[in-house]
Amino acid sequence: QQAEGSSAVARYLRQVLQDCGEDTSGSLAADLPAPGSTDPALHALALVTPDGAEYSAGDNEHLFTMQSISKPFVYALAIDDVGLDRINEVVGQEPSGEAFNELSLEGGTGRPLNPMINAGALVTHQLVDYRDHRSHEGDDQHDGDGQEPSSAEQARRRSARILAGLSAFAARQLQVDQELAEHGARQDYRNLAIANMLKSHQVLAREPLEVLHGYSEQCSVLVTVQDIARMAATLANHGLNPDTGQRVVSDHAARQTLSVMATCGMYDGSGRWLAQIGIPAKSGISGGIIGVLPGRMGLASFAPRLDEEGNSVQGVEMFQRLSHDLDFHLMARE
Ligand code: GLN
Repeated sequence: QQAEGSSAVARYLRQVLQDCGEDTSGSLAADLPAPGSTDPALHALALVTPDGAEYSAGDNEHLFTMQSISKPFVYALAIDDVGLDRINEVVGQEPSGEAFNELSLEGGTGRPLNPMINAGALVTHQLVDYRDHRSHEGDDQHDGDGQEPSSAEQARRRSARILAGLSAFAARQLQVDQELAEHGARQDYRNLAIANMLKSHQVLAREPLEVLHGYSEQCSVLVTVQDIARMAATLANHGLNPDTGQRVVSDHAARQTLSVMATCGMYDGSGRWLAQIGIPAKSGISGGIIGVLPGRMGLASFAPRLDEEGNSVQGVEMFQRLSHDLDFHLMARE
């Protein structure tokens, strides 16, 4: 384990951070409340290998909310909970070519196009099973008296399961920024419109407001750049956490998630990203990006200024640089 440190890797990360830090274009996410509370000059970079070695540089202890970076991890948890076939009935796996918060559904099927856009993430969120079947071996399907728990209780358990799952990916107990979560649940009219649209097309089983609330909590989980690099490394390690050795998700769930990240992870910039950088990735509007080199490492960057697609400007540059310098493009010749 090594954070910061004086190794050649940490020195290299510091250099990349410094070089890319000169670009101050882009702006803070307009959708997040009080953008003024984030210092736009913050930036950090981290790398975690499957054997658990960690390297990082910059503001590596700064906490920010996961936002859309939560989407691939919750998708992976849902795959293990209810199976990919069930998920495929209600969420597709095609790039949308549209903004992440577009009110759009796949023609013909009425499903959201993929789980990396908000419409797909809202559906995926409510598929996560509220029964904690891992610890109880499925014996708590009903509470002691044979009753299904109330809908509010199911939602509470689902959020707890998601937070526990995200924490298992990160190898530490994560917390929710409750104030931000409440704000999202009350004032995110755009996502409420998406949730209502999904409900009217019968792809959302639960109540739109309840799902919005849970999804908003999921987006408001606080992480550092090192946390999300460790989470990415768990996907790179086919579902096994490199730090704890715990199996967080199945091999199959990790592979499916990486495939969807490769084609849909960078919103409407996904095709260009795959061609130029060649790493399955996911970004979030608070300024984080994760990248996964299967079998080799998890990478993460943080820098809050965003481009028009909602991706971190400096983050994209840092990934471009890493991909180029270290020959990380998945389609490159060995
Ligand atoms: N909470 C944000 C939303 O749902 C997350 C979007 C993002 O990071 N792109 O709009």
